[in-house]
Amino acid sequence: SNEQFMCIGCGVKIQTENTEEIGYAPTSALEKEQIICQRCFRLKHYNEIQDVQLTDDDFLKILNGIGKNKGLIVKIVDIFDFNGSWLPGLHRFVGNNKVVLVGNKVDLLPKSIKPNKVINWMKHEAKQLGLKPEDVFLVSAAKGNFIKETAAAIDELRGNQDVYVVGCTNVGKSTFINRIIKEVTGDGDVITTSHFPGTTLDIIKIPLDDEKSLIDTPGIINHHQMAHFVDKQDLKVITPKKEIKPKVYQLNEGQTLFFGGLARFDYISGGRKSFVTFISNELMIHRTKLENADELYKKHVGEMLTPPRPNQLETFPDLVRHEFMIKEDKTDIVFSGLGWVTVNEAGVKVAAHVPRGVQVILRKSII
Ligand code: GDP
Repeated sequence: SNEQFMCIGCGVKIQTENTEEIGYAPTSALEKEQIICQRCFRLKHYNEIQDVQLTDDDFLKILNGIGKNKGLIVKIVDIFDFNGSWLPGLHRFVGNNKVVLVGNKVDLLPKSIKPNKVINWMKHEAKQLGLKPEDVFLVSAAKGNFIKETAAAIDELRGNQDVYVVGCTNVGKSTFINRIIKEVTGDGDVITTSHFPGTTLDIIKIPLDDEKSLIDTPGIINHHQMAHFVDKQDLKVITPKKEIKPKVYQLNEGQTLFFGGLARFDYISGGRKSFVTFISNELMIHRTKLENADELYKKHVGEMLTPPRPNQLETFPDLVRHEFMIKEDKTDIVFSGLGWVTVNEAGVKVAAHVPRGVQVILRKSII
């Protein structure tokens, strides 16, 4: 049939051929009155945090639009999920526009971590990922830390141009904008919304003092983020709400730590050593023998090893194993979106297991 169906969630054209491509829905979904694409289905049922759903297509249009206009781009990342919340394509679209990088949620880091070290690490990572920000800031939008300074720097750097705020969902972009509104205008009534050219998406404009605006763009969904593999309730478990308490583990070779049922850390070889976990205080860490770990997971994922919950097991991705030889003292193994494990001494072999699609990266420790 030539009938064209649209997803009621994101408006994308529905197709039933390619499961990997945008707009996919199983043929059976076409019989329903309200057709929803698989991606929106997952978002709807497993994670309801998104205010705006943005297709990759619309996101490209927005990036293109920003690249063609003149303006300062403020890119927000969640420092607790730096790589997961990165917008990979951005640097290709910015043209001659300056970019300011803002790391949000600094309040979650243990007080023992020096902000400057985190800022240096962010600069280094940004460069590795192809972005050369004009400046880098570390803030807490929720607590208001360093917002005044950042707002002042943004105002200085923008010259007399518009400001575009970009970031993926859940980085705290709305919270940040609300803070800025208070800084800039003193109240929120002056905001206007309009369609972003070529899309059906609303953008929010906050007037600045010279007839220019601060423009809030819709948040893109980074599909590989850990946040998208858990349901709303569990998102609260894995997202730290207050300062993370590091936990020290003395491990022997052949021991494993499970982080709920979401990830796993194997200590393979290197003698008795200490490891420090920086994971949400509410996520259960379960220690076991490496040789029993596979079986334990099969048996207990969804109950003792939770999240995920039993009703999610069917769609929860397999854990994929990444092995590392740690060559430098003080190395962090980052489980994107979940936290990290600091290895204090070099010369150890470890493995990190994460849901397929979620990243594991090594970095020089930020402590
Ligand atoms: P958006 O999707 O990027 O607009 O993100 P929101 O502003 O809705 O925030 C997403 C989640 O992060 C919410 O649960 C916020 O409470 C939380 N959040 C935002 N800013 C901060 C922050 O500075 N610190 C902490 N700990 N949480 C924050």
